[in-house]
Amino acid sequence: KKEENIQTQVIYAGSQVITATEIKANVSMPEVAERAAATGADGVGLLRAEHMILGTGVHPGKILKDKGEDALIEVFSEGIRKVADAFYPRPVTYRTLDAPTDEFVGLKGGEDEPHEHNPMMGWRGIRRGLDQPEILKCELKAIKKLREEGYRNINVMIPLVTNVDEIRKVKEISNEVGLKLMQDVEFGVMIETPAAALIIDEIIKEGIDFASLGTNDLTQYTIAIDRNNENVSKYYLENHPAVMKLIELVITSCKSAGVKTSICGQAGSRPQIVEKLVEWGITSISANIDAVETIRNVVARTEQKIILEAIRKQK
Ligand code: PEP
Ligand code: MG
Repeated sequence: KKEENIQTQVIYAGSQVITATEIKANVSMPEVAERAAATGADGVGLLRAEHMILGTGVHPGKILKDKGEDALIEVFSEGIRKVADAFYPRPVTYRTLDAPTDEFVGLKGGEDEPHEHNPMMGWRGIRRGLDQPEILKCELKAIKKLREEGYRNINVMIPLVTNVDEIRKVKEISNEVGLKLMQDVEFGVMIETPAAALIIDEIIKEGIDFASLGTNDLTQYTIAIDRNNENVSKYYLENHPAVMKLIELVITSCKSAGVKTSICGQAGSRPQIVEKLVEWGITSISANIDAVETIRNVVARTEQKIILEAIRKQK
């Protein structure tokens, strides 16, 4: 009964519920930017790059080889610009390319992708980005170019981090192209491996503005379930206690160090998990476009509950 009362007491600004936690949207395709912006989301917590490439029908390596660097920079900047425009001045977090080897095989030039038995455990994420710096550089140059055009609402994060060297190297590469991470743009890492979660203190020391929980991968790597394998999909539990423990560790460690936290995996669209994240003190939640409103309401109710409990404790 008390819960019902709480639900009616959330605070509104116009028609929108007010929350202290930011509620953002995930955007996988620049084409849906307008629809995402219309949800009233506070920004984009995850802008994926893969569809920008898929939309061209050509492998990025081939674009680079046949048409040169400017052509590939243009592909990235065109996609990012669409989203940055739709959301301006709300912040948009661009996640550098995270294509497993099976994702681009169908593209022109994709036949050169290595064949791997388990691409999810293979050549992807920032480790691949660092092995192919010529592509990563184009992404960073695209962001630099957009900044020069006046877009000050773009942030950068890197996927599948497993050690601090990766962070150091990305910063070096970015410096080389004239984009200073943490100065020109906010810089974050995705925490989507148990390794990254467990060394969160070292990652913080290395220097980041924010950590974003990629729970789709964090779940698969924590409980050894290939997220694309139907035979084991029933065991894929985003709220597995081990996953939740890692999430809590990341949020609370970041919080005590003054580093912002976010979530951009599917778990951020699940009300019961979101309640926990808010209780632990997450800074922002990025949900699916269709879940933004529901999640905003769940967060508002949870925050209300926290406030009421705190006040009652003082009585
Ligand atoms: C994740 O792993 O939770 C995530 C958001 O990244 P992706 O789904 O693109 O791997
Ligand atoms: Mg991921």
